[in-house]
Amino acid sequence: MLGFSVLERGRHLTVRARAKVNLGLEVLGRRADGYHELLTFLAAIDLADRVTLETIQPEAPGSSGIEVACDAPGVPRGRDNLAWRAAELIRREGQVRVGARIRIAKAIPVAAGLGGGSADAAAVLVGLSRLWGLSLAPARLLALATKLGMDVPFFLGQSPALGADRGERLAAVPPHQSLAVVLVNPGFPLPTRDVYARLRPVDFTDGTRVRTLVAALGDGAAAVASRVVNGLEPAALSLWPGLGDVKAALLDAGALGAVMSGSGPTVIGIAASRAAALRIRAALATGGGPRWSVWVARTVAGPVLSIGDGEDAGPAKARRQEAAWGVAKR
Ligand code: ATP
Repeated sequence: MLGFSVLERGRHLTVRARAKVNLGLEVLGRRADGYHELLTFLAAIDLADRVTLETIQPEAPGSSGIEVACDAPGVPRGRDNLAWRAAELIRREGQVRVGARIRIAKAIPVAAGLGGGSADAAAVLVGLSRLWGLSLAPARLLALATKLGMDVPFFLGQSPALGADRGERLAAVPPHQSLAVVLVNPGFPLPTRDVYARLRPVDFTDGTRVRTLVAALGDGAAAVASRVVNGLEPAALSLWPGLGDVKAALLDAGALGAVMSGSGPTVIGIAASRAAALRIRAALATGGGPRWSVWVARTVAGPVLSIGDGEDAGPAKARRQEAAWGVAKR
């Protein structure tokens, strides 16, 4: 049984899709199929999109019957939305005749290295299969997730996890104490494809650093912070020299370590505590870059997808948190 829970109200269903951070990522090499071989340590954080699903009747015979509504800029509404493609896949898989309306309330920044589109897609796979009573085997659901993207399988399972192959082959990592993190987003996207295209053979490493990081998870925030790694950083830096400034600003403000998440551009600072994270955020509000957005979050263990209206950051909750924490968005 996959670890998730959903809030079901008649033919509506809400799934909370948390963001992920990669606290460790090494690129082991380039595969013959063009993908890269990765070893990555992933954790979910308490920043989440809320995905509401509703069964609808297709307007016309032969139409897809899938509608996506999302008010966030930069998020496609139609077939280019990963959530739309997830709905299409699950609809075909289950040979379902009805359609689906998908409402995405975005809290996860777009094209930020936090897996927002993948999280929404996983929420749709799980939510629609539940809504339509499809009882798919977990292995089948994972296969569909992999078709959508190598980040999607993580969102169907448990946090934290170690991802191998193209990042999609996941192994459980024992839960560790939650880490307080400060996320800094510079306010522009860094396309994943462009970052990978800039990789050079010198960027390929053997996975030792990620394994060392995972072995240190029980030793506290400082031990983790000194072992964070991302082999995509040199490639990202060649596209965005400001990456070094964000990392330096986080460290100057008191972060124990700083690392880019996924293919960026969001940078994660590890803090000693939640109070320290709030101090770092406050310091960046006065000394950070002009368009930086800064969030305080924490890593979360357990199922990545979760009940719609609980403790985490749906947009309403995110807005309350921003008010409480004074998110630096200038
Ligand atoms: P990736 O590493 O896969 O690019 P990411 O976490 O960096 O993921 P996403 O927020 O998933 O970034 O956005 C990547 C691109 O996917 C965006 O440019 C956006 O146009 C597109 N996209 C498609 N569906 C979604 C969605 N549901 N939410 C956000 N972006 C989406």
